[in-house]
Amino acid sequence: MVLIYPGSFDPITNGHLDIIERASAICDKLIVAVGNNERKKYEFSTSERIKLIRLTLGDRDNIEVTEFSGLLADFARKTGAKAVIKGLRAVSDFEYEFQMALLNKSLEPSLETLFMMTSVNYSYLSSSAVKEIARNGGNIEGLVPDCIKDIVAAKLAHR
Ligand code: ADP
Repeated sequence: MVLIYPGSFDPITNGHLDIIERASAICDKLIVAVGNNERKKYEFSTSERIKLIRLTLGDRDNIEVTEFSGLLADFARKTGAKAVIKGLRAVSDFEYEFQMALLNKSLEPSLETLFMMTSVNYSYLSSSAVKEIARNGGNIEGLVPDCIKDIVAAKLAHR
């Protein structure tokens, strides 16, 4: 079974990594789909966001990291994925994710959306929180993977 894990990953956090580790353990192949939406403003370019994920994961047989734009339903069709996996942190994530899941289902009825609960340690963690802390010179240790923490902090310092 091929699963897609879509997101902005601007940048990848330990919360994302937790979902990647747990999701890749229950499928044959996990596609980490890094969104590139022209109307969205990212702090890190698409290639930077992909690079940070690849640095974090190293070589993994069953994980592919790739850019995606356009409709998730079309991307799923192209890649042969049967389902999309999303992380849920809190009730506040639910409403948006519920709407997206139903829209994707109406566009591609064979595509399922699965939800994985965050690990309790990461329930408060988001990319925007990481960016806010780093911009203000705070310590992001423990929030993003160790091997990318200096790159993220250097890029965001005083922005
Ligand atoms: P963010 O909300 O941090 O900007 P993304 O838009 O990149 O993250 O989210 C991609 C996916 O990862 C979404 O399904 C989101 O709910 C999930 N996710 C993000 N942070 C966490 C976390 N701390 N724990 C579990 N899932 C998460």
